[in-house]
Amino acid sequence: MEQVFNFSAGPAVLPKPVLAKVQEELLNYDQTGMSVMELSHRSAAFENIIESAEALFRELLAIPDDYHVLFLQGGASLQFSMIPLNLLRPHQSADYIITGSWSKKAVTEASKQGTINTITPENPYIIPDYTHQDLSSASQYVHITSNNTIEGTRYSRYPKTGDIPLVADMSSHILSDSIDVKKFGLIYAGAQKNLGPSGVTVVIVRKDFVGNASDNCPTMLNYETYVKHKSLFNTPPTFAIYVMKLVLEWVKQQGGVKEMEVKNKEKAQMLYNFLDESKLFKNPVSKQNRSFMNIPFLTESKQLDEAFLKRAEQEGLMFLKGHRSVGGMRASLYNAMPLEGVQKLIDTMSQFEKENR
Ligand SMILES: *Cc1c(COP(=O)(O)O)cnc(C)c1O
Repeated sequence: MEQVFNFSAGPAVLPKPVLAKVQEELLNYDQTGMSVMELSHRSAAFENIIESAEALFRELLAIPDDYHVLFLQGGASLQFSMIPLNLLRPHQSADYIITGSWSKKAVTEASKQGTINTITPENPYIIPDYTHQDLSSASQYVHITSNNTIEGTRYSRYPKTGDIPLVADMSSHILSDSIDVKKFGLIYAGAQKNLGPSGVTVVIVRKDFVGNASDNCPTMLNYETYVKHKSLFNTPPTFAIYVMKLVLEWVKQQGGVKEMEVKNKEKAQMLYNFLDESKLFKNPVSKQNRSFMNIPFLTESKQLDEAFLKRAEQEGLMFLKGHRSVGGMRASLYNAMPLEGVQKLIDTMSQFEKENR
């Protein structure tokens, strides 16, 4: 089969060496005589996997000791509910900055738990540098979506919230660039974009944020449950955690998050440079807020967008269709997208432009 490049926003491209390793170990994991899928989550072999995954993750992001790392289920979407359930008491409030569709969904769920103040940039393609003056001083936390997967925007500077903890949905850029974990009270991410397959969600939470949920908080929705049982309260998504561990090993081999960031910026800049020169394709995002991970672009007409998508598929450039809410195209350039994939996309766009001008 011809080589394809997968530009999907998620589930997304995984590193080829990781998939090869999964295949190699699939029938006999580490001399156990069985597949990792068949191992008890209470076995020493699996405990080893989940402990290595946590250790690697802590190392790659330099996570301080006063933070827990939890492996949960329910996707980033369940965190929209779990966060207010654990961090908000009745009559307390939180601020949510709405920079896109995922932030809106987070607000919908949080509003069921407490009072939510929302802040929305005037222009969806410009994210201002917020400070404590833009926020309510009584808030328990400020929630942001640090990379907007659908709109293709990111913060150039994270809000300065003073003493109010910052909570961030990093689903679509975690491990793609360096972050200072200390600046956040809680960080969460579904794995299926930059960390591994779908099924596992990572939560990094400062220790003092755990243990404050009300008594009627369901056990499965209380962070404390997962802290006490080291993410093994009930059966975790064992296979997803195993593949994530392999992805983390791969990131480390590549030189860690710093090196990922260099490569990701290079890949994204190649595409942005092309878009800025192009007479046919456009990206609407202001330069300082352009995502390095998700790059939306469009032509002047729906017909040309359709024609381009068809052409791209013939070239093996897959899942470039933009999100249904914004149309056009979107290229997701996660850690595992090789530079050759981006180059092939640019070459195809360039050729298409010549033929259609
Ligand atoms: C994909 C995505 C989600 C939803 O993740 P699920 O794991 O499907 O719940 C939430 N937030 C952001 C920023 C995303 O990119």
